Amino acid sequence: MSKKDLSKTIFSFFGPPGCGKGTLSERAVERLDFEMLSTGNLCRQHISQKTELGKMLNRFIEKGDLVPDELITDMVKDWLKSQEAQDKTIILDGYPRTKRQAELFYSVLKSEFPEYKFRVILINLAEDTIVERLSGRLVCDNKECQNVYNLSTLADKDVKECLKCGGKLIRRDDDKEEIVRARLKNYADYSSNILDYYKSVGQDIEELNIDGLSVDEVFEKFRSIL
Ligand SMILES: [Zn+2]
Repeated sequence: MSKKDLSKTIFSFFGPPGCGKGTLSERAVERLDFEMLSTGNLCRQHISQKTELGKMLNRFIEKGDLVPDELITDMVKDWLKSQEAQDKTIILDGYPRTKRQAELFYSVLKSEFPEYKFRVILINLAEDTIVERLSGRLVCDNKECQNVYNLSTLADKDVKECLKCGGKLIRRDDDKEEIVRARLKNYADYSSNILDYYKSVGQDIEELNIDGLSVDEVFEKFRSIL
């Protein structure tokens, strides 16, 4: 498919922790020349450049208050305006995070950027696969190395030392099974809120089933639906 068909398209990925969403986005940026809109980075930019938005953001952050969804959406709108002259394909990262943000974003998109196509991609992976992936993750304790291993792909399941530096292999607290299950529950709650909203306004949700696929295969599968 020609690149032209993807111009002025905004992608929003949903997927559980450990599904490889981050890697997929990075590859789309590197290999397909997509542009990533990271609201976290954008916030930091505005604050360091002391823009009007940055000053407002700072007022909330300094007090330790949550930044209002309206302000985040204004920042996204401002960024989209700055990109309007280009025909880039955009990936949203870290936004919308709440149903309110999704509502604000969707109405801004429809009223002010009607020329943009919006595509929601839901990455599906069985819960047990995710738990196995994340809880099977071992990290080298050597701060200089921090090599990551996965028990599912290691030939020696009893390995205790890093194959690169001999450092001790540990399991991060975040990767313990009960914590992984709690993170999945949290994802399921926030994503279903937003996805239900999209369905209610007639937004199409495209599903990408990636059970059993490698990182390369996930990228190829994504490319095939473009
Ligand atoms: Zn190591």
